Amino acid sequence: MRKLMTPLCAAFSLASALALSGGAQAAAQTTHVSIGTGGVTGVYYPTGSAMCKLVNRGTKQHGIRCSVEATGGSVYNINTIRAGELDLGVAQSDQQFNAWNGEGAFKAKGEYKDLRSVFSVYTEAFTVVARKDADIKTFEDLKGKRVNVGNPGSGQRATMEALMAQKGWTMDAFKLVSELKAAEQAQALCDNKIDAMVYFAGHPNGAIQEATTSCDANIVAADDKATRDMVAEKSYLVSYKVPGGLYKGNDADIPTLGAKATFVTSVGADEESIYQLTKSVFENFDRFKRLHPAFASLDPKDMVSDGNTAPLHPGAARYFREAGLLN
Ligand code: GLU
Repeated sequence: MRKLMTPLCAAFSLASALALSGGAQAAAQTTHVSIGTGGVTGVYYPTGSAMCKLVNRGTKQHGIRCSVEATGGSVYNINTIRAGELDLGVAQSDQQFNAWNGEGAFKAKGEYKDLRSVFSVYTEAFTVVARKDADIKTFEDLKGKRVNVGNPGSGQRATMEALMAQKGWTMDAFKLVSELKAAEQAQALCDNKIDAMVYFAGHPNGAIQEATTSCDANIVAADDKATRDMVAEKSYLVSYKVPGGLYKGNDADIPTLGAKATFVTSVGADEESIYQLTKSVFENFDRFKRLHPAFASLDPKDMVSDGNTAPLHPGAARYFREAGLLN
């Protein structure tokens, strides 16, 4: 009977086989890289998974094994990288900016100058979804309603707080405030526990899909003086639209604000690993783009330049220079 090999044995035997044959030293040890994402019904989770899928196709060559973690979102990811407990994370460009500068959700911890960008991906849309019977037509109509403002640690919570400050609102503006995680809020909406939820995410995503198919729910515009002023003031925000036709009962484009989803890491992350991760995505770009509909219009040049407040990590910069994407 053949003996089953544990993954550890497999790694060792690969290493010794290569050592015996004088093969690549790079594969002599397996380096594990973990990426913090978001809730499983969002787009960060499949985005991290897409990166890992491409990286892990080359584990035999470069020795890197990539895995994803479902997390509370942007702010959690950045703080956990800062604590040295995650290698990489996905974060909204507004939260990347705030972390670098020690603003907003990062005020207490102070500026984080060891933060590094890897690259940005697609544009996320600040998405308000309301029960049809809640009579919420605009962002302003959230006043006096039962609203899920997002779990602490999520990007939507941080952006929601910034928007509320811009409007001069406190949590008292709402009849009820809940802090459910992204993956829990659609069910709460359809169970009539809340009137509205907010999600700063790429489209299409599973959470909005769930909300719009399990009950009658509408995407609500976040497009008033406060949101427009914020877009005008903040370089990392854009005017954006949730495209119509993606979700049941929501056929029209809905204006809102947008930010980039970005991959971030710390200055101390291994240069070769970040180089290989970056290379795996960009050398297999067509394959990467097919892994999620939110990636359809990605452009490599924009991914290097847009939404990255923190300096590029040297491993990413090395790949971009080689590929002619950076001078
Ligand atoms: N933008 C959200 C956050 O920062 C996550 C969205 C997603 O998971 O796709 O928490």
